[in-house]
Amino acid sequence: MRELQERIVRDGKVLSETVLKVDAFLNHQVDPQLTMKIGERFAELFRDQNVTKVVTIEASGIHFAMATAFALGVPFIYAKKKKAVTLTEEVYAAPVHSFTRQETYQISVSKQYLHADDRVLIVDDFLATGAALVGLTQIMKDAGAHLVGIGAVIEKSFQEGRGLLEKEGVRIESLARIKSMSPSGIEFMEPAAI
Ligand code: 5GP
Repeated sequence: MRELQERIVRDGKVLSETVLKVDAFLNHQVDPQLTMKIGERFAELFRDQNVTKVVTIEASGIHFAMATAFALGVPFIYAKKKKAVTLTEEVYAAPVHSFTRQETYQISVSKQYLHADDRVLIVDDFLATGAALVGLTQIMKDAGAHLVGIGAVIEKSFQEGRGLLEKEGVRIESLARIKSMSPSGIEFMEPAAI
């Protein structure tokens, strides 16, 4: 998505060769117009897939899931991050290891809202190591839901996330694919077609 790539170049800050800060427009201060366009783009890419729910992880995926679900006319769910899930709670849960924070946390989704007849589109802000999205795909499997694909706003293609998920046969659509980055510049995998 050309507008997104241009915005990353203009307002993103490359903190190191692996960390991109997009706090100015994506995940602290948020540009609502751009967010809605991102949602419309994901909706367009997956429109023919009869999506029944959009799923993300709190907190940084929520506004993209909201925009996508709004464009598709379906509800969205955000998986909750919890330290411990009590056995009495009726949830699907999976562990996620955060490489940036060096900790493992649980994500969970209530069994009330995810069912075997759901066709799920997962949306998130970043596809990096893939740990968070692998955790979420595990929850989809446990629920017996059909995963139609993953929409990532920004993919750091030099990290292993895409490979891990593609190995499982998951369709991935990323709106900006970063091939490499350093404080002197960002290189994208391909020029944006639209
Ligand atoms: P994963 O490594 O599991 O694919 O990424 C987990 C989460 O870490 C992403 O959803 C995103 O919120 C955060 N993350 C990963 N890499 C970056 C990055 O370069 N910049 C920012 N701002 N967040 C990131």
